[in-house]
Amino acid sequence: MMCFDECLELPASRIEVEHSIALTARWAKRCKEAQVKTNGISGEQALFGIFQGGGELDLREQSLEQIVEIDFDGYAIGGLSVGESKEEMYRVAHHITPKMPAEKPRYLMGVGDPEDLLEGIEAGIDMFDCVLPTRNARNGSLFTSRGKISIKQNQYKEDPEPLDPDCACSTCQNYSRAYLRHLFKSNEILGVRLNTYHNLFFYLTLIKGARAAVKDQHFPEFKKDFLEKYRSGLDGD
Ligand SMILES: [Zn+2]
Repeated sequence: MMCFDECLELPASRIEVEHSIALTARWAKRCKEAQVKTNGISGEQALFGIFQGGGELDLREQSLEQIVEIDFDGYAIGGLSVGESKEEMYRVAHHITPKMPAEKPRYLMGVGDPEDLLEGIEAGIDMFDCVLPTRNARNGSLFTSRGKISIKQNQYKEDPEPLDPDCACSTCQNYSRAYLRHLFKSNEILGVRLNTYHNLFFYLTLIKGARAAVKDQHFPEFKKDFLEKYRSGLDGD
């Protein structure tokens, strides 16, 4: 369960960010009080605090401090991936994540594509959530080990290859790109299901690999190898 917070659209002025983190801290206190009061009713449900601060690093630190003081089960970076550039998101994530309590889960909200996930993990993030794999799947935008594919493109019309030859999911094991393209073009609901299955499988496989690499202490190599292949590109969509 997440605290109520205010997520500002970026860019925002410093004064707006200051007001916003103050409001977010007041709401967080009330959320915590409500959780304590209803503990018998809600059982052992965890409550995460969310801190804000836009792109202002000192306000990020201030907001984090205010939220950590209230003491939550985990902490989330809010207000990133809301229209700012990737560089800006990475800059904030790399600055603030190491300052978050290491003994509690660190959660980057609303992120992201495969590159963002690896960048977040490198910064020290433990958790993510994102609509991207499922929403993209519904639009025919599919993640593969060699980059994104837009399955509606003409070049896949008679392509007998699996969507991603390196993927072990049932979509890739059983269907061709041409068939997936046909399903997409015909608005067949099966296409949406097969695409969604693949994209979720791809994300889970990526995260499993990253988790193992962190454990074995070779995450930088894992990230480099993945990105090299991922950026080698299929159709550059
Ligand atoms: Zn697959």
